[in-house]
Amino acid sequence: MMQAGAVNPFPCPSPLERVLLAELVRVAKVCYDRGWSFGTAGNFSLRGQDGLIWQSPSGLNKGDLNPAFFIPVDLATAQVVGPLKVVPSLEMPVHLGAYRSVPEALCVVHTHPPNLVAASRSGQDLLFSGDEMQKALGSGDHLQTLRLPVLTNVTPSEMSKMAENTGAAIVPGVPMVVLAAHGVYAWGRTPLEALAYIEAAEFLCQTYAPQKN
Ligand SMILES: [Zn+2]
Repeated sequence: MMQAGAVNPFPCPSPLERVLLAELVRVAKVCYDRGWSFGTAGNFSLRGQDGLIWQSPSGLNKGDLNPAFFIPVDLATAQVVGPLKVVPSLEMPVHLGAYRSVPEALCVVHTHPPNLVAASRSGQDLLFSGDEMQKALGSGDHLQTLRLPVLTNVTPSEMSKMAENTGAAIVPGVPMVVLAAHGVYAWGRTPLEALAYIEAAEFLCQTYAPQKN
């Protein structure tokens, strides 16, 4: 459900949003320290009040973020709010697609876990069955089939269409999408919850051996 456009031209994070932004910074550091966000890879955001999201900036080392670096963006229009000469992450459209499609998504974490990236290279959705860890990603039990949707990666000039593509690809109850040979975008109520989903998916990709006839 899309929210109304932002109305405050000079937004500040609320006290709760500041706490969650600090947690998001810690999660970004964890991703960097694990080698999942080397270079300036990875991007991170939080759903704020009044139709805003707080988006990490483009081009910075994600192991060295600060809550004050996050940029207010109107969720409906994708425009930066306020007189800021800063650029949010170029991959922000994927975040917007998740927030617009999943009302309970309060933050989005994007990083490049190597086993998951390798497993996604074919561009086919990732299917798991028979594995206990599936339960961490929405399967009621290990006998169900878990499907992680994999989208085709795009060039920066094509990125704007990813808000719509992401919304169309989301599997109800599964808190992530994967871009083929690129990385994962996971959402949750808190940054640590989104990180836990990514850890579960990375573990599945690291350990899963499809059954062969
Ligand atoms: Zn990326």
